[in-house]
Amino acid sequence: MIRPYPELENCTVCPQACGIDRYEGPGSCGADHRLQINLAHLHHGEEPVLSGTRGSGTVFFSHCNLHCRFCQNYQISQLGWGDYITEEKCAELLIDLQSHGAHNVNLVSPTHYTPQLINVLKMARDRGLKIPVVWNSNGYENLSTLQKLSGLVDIYLPDFKYAHAAYGLKYSSARDYPSIALAALREMHSQVGNLQLDSEGIAVSGLLVRHLVLPHRLSGTKEILYLLRENFGPDVALSLMAQYYPAGRAREYPELSRGLEQREYEEVLETAGSLGFTQIFTQELSSQPDWTPDFREAGDPVDRDNLHFRGKENHA
Ligand code: SF4
Repeated sequence: MIRPYPELENCTVCPQACGIDRYEGPGSCGADHRLQINLAHLHHGEEPVLSGTRGSGTVFFSHCNLHCRFCQNYQISQLGWGDYITEEKCAELLIDLQSHGAHNVNLVSPTHYTPQLINVLKMARDRGLKIPVVWNSNGYENLSTLQKLSGLVDIYLPDFKYAHAAYGLKYSSARDYPSIALAALREMHSQVGNLQLDSEGIAVSGLLVRHLVLPHRLSGTKEILYLLRENFGPDVALSLMAQYYPAGRAREYPELSRGLEQREYEEVLETAGSLGFTQIFTQELSSQPDWTPDFREAGDPVDRDNLHFRGKENHA
């Protein structure tokens, strides 16, 4: 077997640092050395600066280096639904999304495939990919891995999930999540700076930090807002997501078994407002998980006949 990526032979691509040989089998993320995707389509449910009018060219990668009990993409992140795709085909897919009018290509849950995706992005750029590349990750990433993406990624769209390490471990199986994510965000910000928009209000570069507000203040949102304000100033772009609902295995935990309440979200918005953040994306509270794409257990992952998002626009 050809082994083009030595870093996969003793994998420390992400902070889980499994040390496993992914040419022999999967690590804790569930991914071996082959790229696997579930769905590629024009997504109209991202923040308006990403979806714009024509959609964000979203590619959902199978597996994940976190194991969030409440994951809204549970079938692909943890059950591994998806199909294998060569790097060549993946590069073609990005070009295809561009030719269908996508404002950007949006790589969802890419971290565990970083070595392969560096190759894909270089191939795609060589073949004419001109639109911005969005790295849509969970924030649990190594600095050394992120540094290899410098110059290849235009927009970083990381989560900052937890302020408290104990909850990162309990709900996502991630050691030291807050300190690792903060360091990753600093690296991303040093590469691309604050979010920049074109004359039509579409993002062209920069950092946009997402935070899913959990019920019962489990995500430590206030602390996260203070950390972001202190580290990046008031102009860092934030997306404060209210779309939590008990997906995946969340109902195994009583404290995760309900959606967010209006008063909890208002508290968050008040804090963000008081800290003077200048770019905040918010959401309407909804009990319906209708922003989640219709993932496929089998079949063509490229939604070629129907290049549009099957959920609704959910960012206000
Ligand atoms: S990318 Fe996967 S195999 Fe590699 S260290 Fe992370 S979880 Fe483990």
